[in-house]
Amino acid sequence: MKSGALTSVKLPADWSVETILPIDFHGKELMLEAHAYQGESEEEQILALIHRDRTAENGSAPTPVVRVHSGCVTGDIFHSLRCDCYQQLQAALKIITEVPYGAIIYVPYHEGRGIGLFKKIQAYALQDQGFDTVEANIEVGAPIDSRDYGLTARVLRDLAMPEIKLLSNNPAKEQALKQHGIRVAERLPLVAEPNKFNQRYLDTKRARMAHKL
Ligand SMILES: [Zn+2]
Repeated sequence: MKSGALTSVKLPADWSVETILPIDFHGKELMLEAHAYQGESEEEQILALIHRDRTAENGSAPTPVVRVHSGCVTGDIFHSLRCDCYQQLQAALKIITEVPYGAIIYVPYHEGRGIGLFKKIQAYALQDQGFDTVEANIEVGAPIDSRDYGLTARVLRDLAMPEIKLLSNNPAKEQALKQHGIRVAERLPLVAEPNKFNQRYLDTKRARMAHKL
């Protein structure tokens, strides 16, 4: 789905479903609202996990703290040290469950900055030969960042979150959401500790992709 075309795109009437998802977070049982969304194509699916502490609400709901997280099979599931996805997701989960109103918008099809699992691993193999993350993406014939935030913005609006506090180090993500009409009241950084495997990845994010790390 490309930006701009979004308002005219007709999504199915049953594009969202919801349930309650109990999760174990460091030994603590948390009840999260889980909303799944179906975009235009089969692969465009989004999971929104919401933490809402109704006891802390006094009248109007506070501005939600939101992490828009790109799915990363190697990082999120297997805790790969080649990226900082796992650390960022864990840090975000901690924060959103500690504030009165928070959410993770999890976007599986943004794997590898939108190039998919196969090309991401292909790019890793090139990085093993000395390419940096940007050069490697170019080499596998993939855009440096092909993530589109149109569906994410639509999901946020559906969740009555037209204004958010964004958990991200990525000014481009903030810009993209703003372009899709989401008001970003504040961008809150997520700090991940570098390790010997991802130092170069983080350096590239900082130097070539303007991430605030
Ligand atoms: Zn990752």
